[in-house]
Amino acid sequence: MIIDGKAVAADIRGRVGEAVTALRAEHDLQPGLAVVLVGADPASEVYVRNKGKQTVEAGMQSFEHRLDVDTDESTLLALVEKLNADPAIHGILVQLPLPDQIDEDKVINAINPDKDVDGFHILNAGRLATGQQSLVPCTPAGCVILARRALGDLSGLDAVIVGRSNIVGKPLAQLLLKENCTVTIAHSRTRNLEDVCRRADILVAAVGRPNMILGDWVKPGACVIDVGINRIEGENGKTRLVGDVDFASAEKVAGSITPVPGGVGPMTIALLLANTVVAACAINNIEAPDLFK
Ligand code: NDP
Repeated sequence: MIIDGKAVAADIRGRVGEAVTALRAEHDLQPGLAVVLVGADPASEVYVRNKGKQTVEAGMQSFEHRLDVDTDESTLLALVEKLNADPAIHGILVQLPLPDQIDEDKVINAINPDKDVDGFHILNAGRLATGQQSLVPCTPAGCVILARRALGDLSGLDAVIVGRSNIVGKPLAQLLLKENCTVTIAHSRTRNLEDVCRRADILVAAVGRPNMILGDWVKPGACVIDVGINRIEGENGKTRLVGDVDFASAEKVAGSITPVPGGVGPMTIALLLANTVVAACAINNIEAPDLFK
């Protein structure tokens, strides 16, 4: 089965739209999301444009702040403070990576944790790790929803995550633990990576190396979730997107698998919108609908 992330993301966006309509009608509350982009990295530009478009389509307010690549840290921190204090804004996202002169951790941790819709603030990371209510990073949340859609209850399954970044691998491990999986996190120093991968009922690749995970690393019937987004040159000289999993060989062995593009990618923005609704509800003491299924 090829897992259609586009369709699942559209379903979530639809439910976010309904939730926003209800919040506006019943509570006179329109969730607002502010996105800050420093510099003009072309990939980040595309993400920011899509985020703004989908935010508006869901009935929310979108605020975009574009700063020059030379912006200094104190200017960015001052903007974050302003957004923290703005009652029309319930979600703040600072697009990463930031230029070298700016300390990313400092900026992330300056965001009001209640508005931290990326879920990267140290308080939200700590809450997630200790099983408390938190805003949850969007891409890992998307991976769990796709795995649940493919497998149903994940309880007791062996999950292997290749990659240990703070934005994907580590929070995903926490989320899969919460689903009662037995979780292994693999990385560049892992010995016998292929054997480790072969143990997985759920195999997640979040590495950033094109087509690294081959079909014979996959346990027959496993659910394969490919987070990787790699641009490679195709036969016609044009660039194309591929994942970290060699799709052609892996799809023959896997029970279910996400394609790239069209798998995890579309889920990230959908869950960003969902997190903005969750944040707007929490800030206003309103019970949020469950958008994470
Ligand atoms: P990072 O570069 O932060 O982390 C990569 C991880 O892969 C590290 O833990 C690294 O190990 C590990 N790794 C590198 N080489 C190997 C190897 N040969 N064998 C095993 N492990 C290895 O990446 P991110 O987590 O930020 O992103 C991973 C991928 O996911 C990228 O392609 C990125 O574009 C994509 N992505 C997609 C998103 C989406 O769909 N919306 C969102 C975020 C990311 P070590 O720690 O030892 O160095």
